[in-house]
Amino acid sequence: MTQTTTAPDPRRVEAAPAIEVRGLQVRYGDFSAVRGIDLDVRRGEVFALLGTNGAGKTTTLEVLEGFGTRSGGTVSVLGLDPAVDRAALQPRMGVQLQEGGFVDELTVVETLRLWERLVERPDRPERLLERFELTGRRDVAVSKLSGGEKRRLDLALAVWGSPELVILDEPTTGLDPGSRRRTWDAIQELQEAGRTVVLTTHYLEEAEALADRVAIMHEGRLAVAGTLAEIIATQPAGFSATLPDGADELPVLGGTVDRDGAQVRVQTDDLQRDLTDFLGWAAARGVRLSDLRAAPASLADIYHAVRTGSEQT
Ligand code: ATP
Repeated sequence: MTQTTTAPDPRRVEAAPAIEVRGLQVRYGDFSAVRGIDLDVRRGEVFALLGTNGAGKTTTLEVLEGFGTRSGGTVSVLGLDPAVDRAALQPRMGVQLQEGGFVDELTVVETLRLWERLVERPDRPERLLERFELTGRRDVAVSKLSGGEKRRLDLALAVWGSPELVILDEPTTGLDPGSRRRTWDAIQELQEAGRTVVLTTHYLEEAEALADRVAIMHEGRLAVAGTLAEIIATQPAGFSATLPDGADELPVLGGTVDRDGAQVRVQTDDLQRDLTDFLGWAAARGVRLSDLRAAPASLADIYHAVRTGSEQT
């Protein structure tokens, strides 16, 4: 990789997207963990990177954070190259790694006070203790915290001083539902303040609840990326119904029809057309349908399609 030492133009840095990645490759020895991905994250959005285990999400985040070394491609984070300008980026970025590296002997509040001295962005330990419900654990040594409490402390450090860009690697893994919900609130708070958040998650409902745009990685590549509506539109929608006893042959429909006794399921690229044909057929024969449901593909369907290699993108 060629690294430039020319000072970046401050106007270009100001106007740059939050993240712009082109053809990113990362190799560990002979193994290609990231195989040429493009990624665009706009300022002020929450971007969720989903993917199978070992897809390369953490590896990608490490490059964005300036901790990982790329083997190819270009990377711009807030207008700077993290491989070259990590020192300039650090004050503008908050990072939560998959595993936090705390000083075990320090208490929670001591850890926050240490952070206060290390990080240029102003903030108050008390605010974060309260925000992440650690007030009752303030004098407990970090080594004695539960996994979920450590995760919350880690998140508190990442959002300290509300940085321009926050990168969170599986921020809610291991959290109970209440803590997860409050973590979502903290992420939404950052977004409302105009900050950019990039997070990885294995929870589809988390991506649905938080993210403006989503990308799904699989085996080092980006399988799909876009708004939820855009990526959901790449997969067929479906409808299903239960037929009454004695219902005769179904009409010819454009989608894939799967009939199991009285149950009918149809997957289609044209939900309106096929559902109209189906309902017209039922009306013409006086067939009373029960359990009629129609829905677009879900993020879970897309994820499943990516995993099974049947995505069309
Ligand atoms: P998960 O969802 O399981 O956390 P991930 O998408 O974050 O996975 P990565 O941690 O980026 O995946 O790992 C991508 C691949 O690179 C995996 O096959 C992993 O075993 C491999 N890998 C990661 N770090 C190293 C390393 N330091 N040396 C060698 N291989 C590595």
